[in-house]
Amino acid sequence: MKLLRHQSLGSAALVFAGALVLALSFFAISLWEFSRTEADDRARIVQLAEAFVKEYADQHSEGMPLPASFRRIGLESFLQTRVGDKTHAPVRVRVPGPPGLELGSEEPLAHVAQKITVIAESRDPAIYEELRVEGSRVIGRSIFPTFATSEVCVSCHNKELGGTPYKAGDVMGAFVVESDLTAFVMRSLAYSGVAFGVLLLGYQLLANRENRRTREIVELEGQVELERQRREAEAHSNFVLSHDSLTGLARRSVFMERLRELCSQQDKPNFFVALIDLDDFKTINDTMGHDAGDALLTTVGHRLKRIAVEGGGLAARFGGDEFALIVPQSEQFPTMHATGSRVVELVRCEVIHNSFSIQPSCSVGLSACGPDHVHDDAYLLKYADAALYAAKDAGKNQFRQFNDEILKTLNRRTLITSALPRALKYNELDVALQPKVCLADGKAVEFETLARWNLGANSVDPDEFVRVAEETGTIFDLDLAILAKGAEFAVSASNLIGAPVRISSNVSALGFRRPRIADGIMQCLHKAGLAPQHLTIEVTESVLVENIATANESLNSLRACGIRIALDDFGTGYSSLRYLQQLIFDEIKIDRSFLQDITSDSKKHFLVMKIVEMAMGLDKEVVIEGIETQAQFDLALRTGARLGQGYFFSDPMGHDACLEYAQKAGLNLPDRMHG
Ligand code: C2E
Ligand code: CA
Ligand code: CA
Repeated sequence: MKLLRHQSLGSAALVFAGALVLALSFFAISLWEFSRTEADDRARIVQLAEAFVKEYADQHSEGMPLPASFRRIGLESFLQTRVGDKTHAPVRVRVPGPPGLELGSEEPLAHVAQKITVIAESRDPAIYEELRVEGSRVIGRSIFPTFATSEVCVSCHNKELGGTPYKAGDVMGAFVVESDLTAFVMRSLAYSGVAFGVLLLGYQLLANRENRRTREIVELEGQVELERQRREAEAHSNFVLSHDSLTGLARRSVFMERLRELCSQQDKPNFFVALIDLDDFKTINDTMGHDAGDALLTTVGHRLKRIAVEGGGLAARFGGDEFALIVPQSEQFPTMHATGSRVVELVRCEVIHNSFSIQPSCSVGLSACGPDHVHDDAYLLKYADAALYAAKDAGKNQFRQFNDEILKTLNRRTLITSALPRALKYNELDVALQPKVCLADGKAVEFETLARWNLGANSVDPDEFVRVAEETGTIFDLDLAILAKGAEFAVSASNLIGAPVRISSNVSALGFRRPRIADGIMQCLHKAGLAPQHLTIEVTESVLVENIATANESLNSLRACGIRIALDDFGTGYSSLRYLQQLIFDEIKIDRSFLQDITSDSKKHFLVMKIVEMAMGLDKEVVIEGIETQAQFDLALRTGARLGQGYFFSDPMGHDACLEYAQKAGLNLPDRMHG
C-alpha cells in the first residue's frame, strides 16, 4: 500500500469556497425580495460568513489554513451575484431519484450532471417550498452540485488543482444539503473525500424579519406535515433497510432479489455477476485508521456504482470490504473479461484521504448468466465466489472468470467442507510426528505434530483442509484434536523410554482471536497428562500482524503456564524486525523455502546465516526447516543453527512408527529449551 503525502489543501479550501458561495446564494435568493433592507442584509451576511470562516478555521482546519484568496473569492463571488446582474439566475439542482446519491471524491463529476434535473432558479418562493418538501426535508438529503459559473471559479480551480481543466458550466463539486426552517446544514462531499460543514444560522433572522413569509411557511408546513411525515418515514425506512449506510449501495438482500428476479425471467437475459474483494483492506484500516478505511470503501462504492450505472446493472455492498455487481451484457460490457478488466482498472485508481494517497486494488470473481451459461441465482453467486477465491490465490489485484478448472477446485472444496465437521466430530483425523533434530548429534529434541486426514481412500493435503477449517471456524477444534493426539504420543513415548518427551504443535493464527486460548490448551494437556513444560506451540507471524498487544497477551499467558512459543515459517509472511523485537517467543523456524536452492544460491545461504546469527543474538533457539539432502544438512550445520527438521532426518511418522523411532534413534534429552 503506497502512502504519499499529498497536497490537497488548496482543493479542500476551494471546495469549501464553493460551499460557501452556494450557501450564500441561498441567502441571496431569500433576500431577493427585501430590497428595502438589502444593504443591511448584505452587511449581515458578510458578517455571518466572516464569522463562519473564522469559526471554521478555528475548529476544523487542523493545520489547514484557509487561504486569504478563498475568503476574498467566496465573498466577492457572492457580492458580484448580488450587486451585479440582478437577472442572473443561479442554477439550482434537484435530484429526483432515490436519496443518497453521493459523489466520489475524485470522480470526474460531469457524469452526475446527466442524472439530475437542473431547474433554473426563479424568484417564486414556491420553488423553495417545493425543494424543502420534496427534496431536502422529505428524503433527508439532496445533492446540490456546484458549477463553475464564473471565470473566477474556473481559473482559480484550474490553477490550484491542475489536471483536466474545468470549463465554465462544468460540475465542480457537490453538497449534501439538509435543510429546515431555521438552518441549512451543508456538507461538501467533494474533492479529497474531505467533508466540510457549513452551518448557516441566519435563515431564522431573515424569516422573522418578514412575518408574512413566516406565516406562509408555517401554514404550508401544517398542510404538508402529515404527508411529509409519512413519506419521510417510508423513504427513510425503505432506504435504511435496503441500502448500506456508508456507501449508499444496495444491501445483499436487494442484490439477491434482483438476481432471483433476473434468473426467473422467461428469456434468460445475458449478464455477469462480479464479486469484488478489496486487497489488504485490513492493512489500510490498521495503518491509516478507520476514517481512511471508510473513505476508501465509500470511494470504491462510488466507482462500482458507476460501472453498474454505465451498464444498467446494480452495485451492492455485501459487508466489510466485499462488493457485488450485476452487469448486463452490452456493447460496453460484451464479455466477462471486459467487465473484469473495467472493475480492476477502475478500483485501482488512487484515492486521496486527508492529504494521503491510498493505492487500492481488488480481486474479482466473475460468473455469467444466459442461455449458454448457468441461470440459477445461487450457482451464479457460488461460481463467482469460487472465481474470486482463485483470483486471490493467484496473487490478488486481478480478476478470474469461472471455468472448468475452478469448478473442479470448487467441487473438491465443497466435498472437504461438508466432510470435515463430521471427521472432527468422530475424531477421524490423525497425527503424524516429525522430529526436530539436534544438528550436532542427529538426535530428536522434540516432535512436531502434523494433522493427517483420509477422505475415502485418499489422503487430503493438510494445507487444503487446514484452510477449510480456518474458513469454516473449526480450526481451533482441529488444532486441539491434533494436540491431544500428540500429547498422548508424548506420554506413551515417555513411559516407554523412561524420560520426558517433548512435542511441538501448530495453532492457527485464528485461534489467537479467541479469548482464553491458554485455557483450552491447558485442559487438553491436563486430560492427556502431559506437563505444559513439554509443549512448544508453533504460530505464524500472521498472529502478530492482527494486533501485537493482544497476541502478546495470549502468548504471555501460554508462557506463564510453562509452554514455549515458536515462530513458524519465518521469512514467508510479514517478517519484520519490528515483530522480532516486540514479540514474545522462544524459537524461530526458518521456512523451508530458504533451503530450496541454498546449495546453488550463495545469497540464500548468506541470508540464512544472518537470520541464524540475529536469532541467536536475541537468545532464541533456531530450527532450519526442510532439510532434505546431505548438502543442505552440511550448509545448515555451517550456519551455526542448533536444530533442523526435514526428510533428511525423517518423514513425518504415524504414532507407532514414531514410538519405534524414538526408542531406536534415542533422544537429545538435556533440557535445552528456554523458558
Ligand atoms: P508446517 O507447520 O510448516 O509443517 C511442516 C510441513 O513441512 C509439513 O507439511 C511437513 O510434512 C513438511 N516437511 C517436513 N519436512 C520436509 C522436507 O524436508 N521438505 C519438504 N518439502 N517438506 C517437509 P504438512 O504436514 O503437509 O503440513 C503443511 C502445513 O499444514 C503445516 O506447515 C502447517 O502449516 C499446517 N498444519 C499441519 N498440521 C496442522 C495442525 O494440526 N494445525 C494447524 N493449524 N496447521 C497444521
Ligand atoms: Ca509448524
Ligand atoms: Ca513451518
